[in-house]
Amino acid sequence: QAKHQINRVLFYEKNMEKCSEQKMLLEHDLHKALENQELYLDYQPQIDVRTGEIISVEALLRWKHPTKGIISPADFIPIAEESGLIVPIGEWVLQQACSQVKKCQEDCQLTIGVSINLSIRQFFQHNLAHTVKRVLAETQLHPACLELEITESMTMDRKHAVETLCELKELGIKIAIDDFGTGYSSIAYLKDLPIDTLKIDRSFVMQIPTGDTVLISMIISLAKHLNLTIIAEGVEEEFQWEFLSREGCNLIQGYLCGRPMPLHQIIETIHFQQAA
Ligand code: C2E
Ligand code: CA
Ligand code: CA
Ligand code: CA
Repeated sequence: QAKHQINRVLFYEKNMEKCSEQKMLLEHDLHKALENQELYLDYQPQIDVRTGEIISVEALLRWKHPTKGIISPADFIPIAEESGLIVPIGEWVLQQACSQVKKCQEDCQLTIGVSINLSIRQFFQHNLAHTVKRVLAETQLHPACLELEITESMTMDRKHAVETLCELKELGIKIAIDDFGTGYSSIAYLKDLPIDTLKIDRSFVMQIPTGDTVLISMIISLAKHLNLTIIAEGVEEEFQWEFLSREGCNLIQGYLCGRPMPLHQIIETIHFQQAA
């Protein structure tokens, strides 16, 4: 029994070692990923529930590793975050997304918007608003077309959140709360923050229609009273769309409307819609 335990501990430690070794290797490679142009963005459409039109897109970061293939952001963003690399990478994402979407607007004659994920470290960079302002000026993207997504946990430091969000709002951009419902806050807590959009987490959407849908209905109704735009994430089924439409959700994002894809593919869809 004891020997068995020891083996298990050794196995565990070996695994941990391997794990942190892999992490270190990945971090090492990530340092070169930016300059080697291994990072790129896919975009996922955000669709108006009533008209089916593409209103905006969310930029989602991808890493095409030279030997390991495509690495999920869920695997490398935490490493980028820990090492601080997320700051230059995040700035690159901002710059890249704004300029690509600006170009798309010109090609399609459409004022499509773009949502960008902010990491906690970026949110605590003192020059965040300056960076955003500079990128908007450089890319000529209209501020109203840019939305930054933050998570509830980033707003735990209330004073910092209010200050930072006010600075960002002064630029004329929009703010969304991502993964809403998975954190600790409540709508009441968000009430006094200068935000525009609530993104309802996929875990609630998955409950439609057989599971517990009381919460999602309540979130939508409260968000409507607070005049927030409501996006449902991870919509995969037609009946989820129908439910969300009935409840008054504004926008839908999920595999049902399109997986994350290169922006030119979305442009083709828009051209197709315009021609029809
Ligand atoms: P997120 O911001 O919650 O993004 C939504 C995730 O759900 C994306 O995963 C998307 O591909 C996936 N998704 C969308 N629709 C569906 C659906 O219908 N079903 C299912 N099962 N999944 C769906 P992805 O692209 O792997 O990104 C994972 C997370 O990585 C993001 O979660 C976000 O937190 C983070 N991330 C991605 N890009 C960036 C970035 O540029 N900066 C930062 N800081 N984080 C990023
Ligand atoms: Ca997001
Ligand atoms: Ca999300
Ligand atoms: Ca998420």
